[in-house]
Amino acid sequence: PVGAQSPRRVLLKLSGEAFGGGAVGIDVKVVQRIAGEIVRAVRSGVQVAIVVGGGNFFRGAELSQAGIERSRGDYMGMLGTVMNCLALQDFLEQAGQATRVQTAITMGQVAEPYIPLKAIRHLEKGRVVIFGAGAGLPYFSTDTVSIQRALEIHCAEVLMGKNGVDAVYTADPRKDPSARRFTSLSYNRALVDNLAVMDASALSMARDNSMPIRVFGLEGPGNVTAALQGTTLGTRVCA
Ligand code: UDP
Repeated sequence: PVGAQSPRRVLLKLSGEAFGGGAVGIDVKVVQRIAGEIVRAVRSGVQVAIVVGGGNFFRGAELSQAGIERSRGDYMGMLGTVMNCLALQDFLEQAGQATRVQTAITMGQVAEPYIPLKAIRHLEKGRVVIFGAGAGLPYFSTDTVSIQRALEIHCAEVLMGKNGVDAVYTADPRKDPSARRFTSLSYNRALVDNLAVMDASALSMARDNSMPIRVFGLEGPGNVTAALQGTTLGTRVCA
């Protein structure tokens, strides 16, 4: 209908590190709080898709340092992301929020396969969709997947929730007190200066397809809800 505004649809990237609360495994308090904040945003009308990392279990690059073949280590990493997806799904469902997990590696007993048009239908029905197992491909990262999924299911932006830092800085503010904070930043500057936003493949895919990214801190109370609703937080990375 003329004048009707389409609802805001966004992709939230949650690092595995956040889920682990700094340790291996799952910090249920953290996951429960994030779930509660997501539910609030969905109830206010935002369509929320999520990509969850797996760094709290395994990272392929680290496993390969320890002597496991890189691709196999990457598959272990991808399987770790699925456990995070199920934990988040559980807390969302406990809070009364219908949620579907879709994985890039088929595992019919625990999740749906990744079917983009079906993911869009879930979002339109007010369900949260969580994407697990990354791209299903070794040598990829969940950052790259978050850009790809956001493009394919037509999200307005990617919200990169960070642990321990609330924006992009010229240097690590925990180590360098002279670090300056960016409120906005171009894709090219982030790439050329190698700023800690996301990996280069993810950034270049965002740049080449004009997908805006907002980097924000997960920790402040209400931050996740605010970011999902479009509040100006942290750093916006765009053209
Ligand atoms: N991974 C992969 N392909 C993908 C996504 C992830 O091989 O498409 C593997 C990779 O080994 C990675 C691990 O899964 O280290 C966990 O994902 P990531 O490191 O992106 O998680 P985060 O750092 O966000 O917790």
